[in-house]
Amino acid sequence: MSILDNYNKIYNEVELSSKKAGHKVELLAVSKNQSLEKMEELAKNNVLLFGESKVQEALPKIEYLSNKYNKLSFHFIGKVQTNKLKKIVEYFDLIHSVDREDVLKLINDYANELNKTQDILIQLNIAHEQQKNGIAVDELERLLNKAVNFKNIAVKGLMFMPPYEEDITKNIKYFEVANSLFNKYKDDTFNTLSMGMSHDFMLAIEYGATLVRVGTYIFGERI
Ligand SMILES: *Cc1c(COP(=O)(O)O)cnc(C)c1O
Repeated sequence: MSILDNYNKIYNEVELSSKKAGHKVELLAVSKNQSLEKMEELAKNNVLLFGESKVQEALPKIEYLSNKYNKLSFHFIGKVQTNKLKKIVEYFDLIHSVDREDVLKLINDYANELNKTQDILIQLNIAHEQQKNGIAVDELERLLNKAVNFKNIAVKGLMFMPPYEEDITKNIKYFEVANSLFNKYKDDTFNTLSMGMSHDFMLAIEYGATLVRVGTYIFGERI
């Protein structure tokens, strides 16, 4: 199967799950560690939304593709390093992985310089995993209260990445927590719950995801 066939297959599965769940869902094609050629195969067939996690790798791909194709949108899903943040604000429409107050302040400063409002998600770490980014559930309210003070930031919702489980149903309990927090704050602006990857996006949609991040099942194994 071609990359486009893979994409279409996942897209249809997302649509089906979305209908079943009764809410809209967007598909983010996670192109980190994937070649420009593979991305271009999708871009020339009107796939608009791509996710990247490393600034250095992403920028040349973004430059090339957005010069050639209209309306592309790139999301940053990787760990936020403050020395790369200016570029992230410059090149990405949505940052999924914000989890600190000092990062909020820097994003706001850079967004202000660039005269834009930067859309962000707050990343949750519900299962208290040491190695993962994200804030604990009981810190969310505090960070959201800080974020409202930054004029050049719009908090669009939450991002969550569960522990890796062979048996994905073990993560339902975490999806439920993410979804209930999302529903607590949901409004016209705060309308995005980013969760679900290649192996669990259908389950994540059932539990409220409005944006799924799929890499391997679209592009194949990462190089
Ligand atoms: C790599 C990555 C994905 C995609 O993972 P796949 O299992 O390849 O679909 C999704 N979200 C984040 C944050 C990632 O880093």
